[in-house]
Amino acid sequence: MTPGEKLCLACGLCCDGTLFDNVRLEAADEAKHLKSLGLPVTVSRGKEPVARFPQPCSALCPDCTCRVYAHRPKQCRTYECKVYQSLQSGSRKPATAMRVVTNARRQADRVRRLLRALGDHDEHRSLGERFFRMQCRMEEKPADADTLAAFADLSLAVHRLKLLAHAKFHVQA
Ligand code: SF4
Ligand code: SF4
Repeated sequence: MTPGEKLCLACGLCCDGTLFDNVRLEAADEAKHLKSLGLPVTVSRGKEPVARFPQPCSALCPDCTCRVYAHRPKQCRTYECKVYQSLQSGSRKPATAMRVVTNARRQADRVRRLLRALGDHDEHRSLGERFFRMQCRMEEKPADADTLAAFADLSLAVHRLKLLAHAKFHVQA
């Protein structure tokens, strides 16, 4: 196993709804086939329909392998985060890259715990979508002081995770 493969199998953040809300399909991707493999592909209406499936991806296995690896769409085949790239180029050592991934996973877990503490157990939705829904909930009806304090902790944890994602994972288009 290469260091890059080892890193991704310890990570899964680009599949589990931490870094992305969904996977967008391109024309060359086999949308029908992916659907037949159990991925909940939907197609938007409009002049230029877009096919996508949501994250956390239903093809992601507990050991971070991909159940549809041979048929995964282009976005999945081509995505390489900054940590992965730096490991491949040799500018970051495997142990350092692993520490970045471990820290990011820990921060994402903290966001999940805080969401659950506020009553959101929607584990099949991305963290971004869950936080957005929580924000709407907070704006809709008045909350007590404890709930507001918990929401402040959540907002800070989400902010920290976003900063980390931009600094260490997201690649400029
Ligand atoms: S976020 Fe990066 S390190 Fe993690 S699984 Fe995706 S490509 Fe691999
Ligand atoms: S299809 Fe595979 S590689 Fe793509 S998001 Fe799902 S688990 Fe990850």
